[in-house]
Amino acid sequence: MTSRRVFILQSVIGTSALASGMAMAAPMVDEKDTAAMGLGYAADSSKVDAKKQPKHAAGNSCANCALYQGKAGAASGPCPLFAGKEVTAKGWCSAWAKKA
Ligand code: SF4
Repeated sequence: MTSRRVFILQSVIGTSALASGMAMAAPMVDEKDTAAMGLGYAADSSKVDAKKQPKHAAGNSCANCALYQGKAGAASGPCPLFAGKEVTAKGWCSAWAKKA
């Protein structure tokens, strides 16, 4: 390969890596989304209405849910139930499952 070709390839690879590193965070789940409403999702677990959500228990939140994929200490992270969006670490929904 000529050095010019190598340079172009390295530039393309470098630009791709930069672009993926700068990827924007996914949008947050809106409590009023159809899927969110169906699961009783609340962005703040402490505001869940216990009468409407009898499965909710104090202290349960996305951060300590088995399905939560956010990093420890992060304010939000992905959840497979809301593909392409993020839930708040302090959120909750009726599919909450205890982290093993
Ligand atoms: S399944 Fe777990 S992580 Fe996902 S929204 Fe419900 S409580 Fe949060």
